[in-house]
Amino acid sequence: LTNDQLALWDRENFFHPSTHLAQHARGETTTRIMRGGDGVYIEDRDGTRFLDAFAGLYCVNVGYGRPEIAEAIAAQAKELAYYHAYVGHGTEVSITLAKMILDRAPSNMSKVYFGLGGSDANETNVKLVWYYNNVLGRPEKKKIISRWRGYHGSGLMTGSLTGLELFHKAFDLPLPQVIHTEAPYYYRRPKAEMTEADFTAHCVAELETLIDREGADTIAAFIGEPVLGTGGIVPPPAGYWEAIQTVLRRHDILLIADEVVTGFGRLGSMFGSDHYGIEADIITIAKGLTSAYAPLSGSIVSDRVWKVLEQGTDALGPIGHGWTYSAHPIGAAAGVANLRLIDELGLVSNAGDVGGYLNRTMREALADHPNVGEVRGEGMLCAVEFVEDRDTRRPFDPARKLVPQMAATLLAQDRVIARAMPQGDILGFAPPLCLTREEADKVVEATVRAVEATLS
Ligand code: PLP
Repeated sequence: LTNDQLALWDRENFFHPSTHLAQHARGETTTRIMRGGDGVYIEDRDGTRFLDAFAGLYCVNVGYGRPEIAEAIAAQAKELAYYHAYVGHGTEVSITLAKMILDRAPSNMSKVYFGLGGSDANETNVKLVWYYNNVLGRPEKKKIISRWRGYHGSGLMTGSLTGLELFHKAFDLPLPQVIHTEAPYYYRRPKAEMTEADFTAHCVAELETLIDREGADTIAAFIGEPVLGTGGIVPPPAGYWEAIQTVLRRHDILLIADEVVTGFGRLGSMFGSDHYGIEADIITIAKGLTSAYAPLSGSIVSDRVWKVLEQGTDALGPIGHGWTYSAHPIGAAAGVANLRLIDELGLVSNAGDVGGYLNRTMREALADHPNVGEVRGEGMLCAVEFVEDRDTRRPFDPARKLVPQMAATLLAQDRVIARAMPQGDILGFAPPLCLTREEADKVVEATVRAVEATLS
């Protein structure tokens, strides 16, 4: 097939996610057709190589083209591509993976429920906390608190949990069981003179006010990413997680740590929960679980939640919640090979080491630029936020589409892929965890050139 033929079929037949459909149909956006990859590099059909500094959608954590994972998938497909995991059944590979996940998870975790992607795993989590409260005889304790700028998926419930306008408007979301609280976004604090500690206290006060207004006996859980991802790559201010957990415990509100991005090493710790001292009741995992070599997600449930669920089934019967593809053996084979590779290659410590280097060099190169408001990040996550005026933190006119233009320049000039984050003038980086210092230098140098070209 020629590229022209594929472009035509693409426009005629393919419904792309998260895409401006009308512009695409008019041919104003084109589809780059990817073909192969190796480490942090990905290649299109014309043979052009790109340094993928966003690891797909922050998911190809071990890098592209790993034969160990491809071979594990092929072997599993030949042996047994599928059998379900409903009552009384399992496969060697999915049972092995559950054990490997629990061996790596925080010590209060007890069981893994498998799904396919981060969205369905968070749907599962909401149903599990509802079931939990039904078992405990308090069915009115159902609301879920999420944060503005949080990203938890794009289903009906998970799109509601997501705190970004684009995911609500036109869909009549959020659903009434979901309420949002302040994003822990220190750069956009309400008063410039606030210290990080002041701002943490402010976020906690906002949360307390919300809980008082709604009534703690109506609130089941709080969900949050250890570091806000799609909402702008925003690490929490000092003391945030400790203070939030104190409030949640006082009101008997469960904590769901959405580790779809931060799980399996991205912050330089196996989990973001380890990194920030979060003791979650449920942890969401996806992306880095298989490095996206096959779709697989999971809800890791704590002892505390498990004990209640287990008791509940004697009264309520089996949990009415199951996917055909839960614990799919192909995904599980990818997961087992991927977690082994993460260990063998020392990728968790590399993420901390090279990620720290990437953040430092990016800050040194750009922090003094008159239109750079902040360079921030943690581990192998980094963001540059642009502003028209540094003193007032005034953003650029959105019509200018500054950061999408910058990402396009970065791609065209130096063949580096970064992401224009969906809300705000934020350029995001989340490279594979195998990034080297030399590759990090390349990303920073290319970014500086793209900034100069776009803002000159
Ligand atoms: N949770 C977080 C923190 C995410 O970043 C994402 C996706 O980016 C999701 C959930 C949803 O995952 P998926 O797109 O696999 O449904």
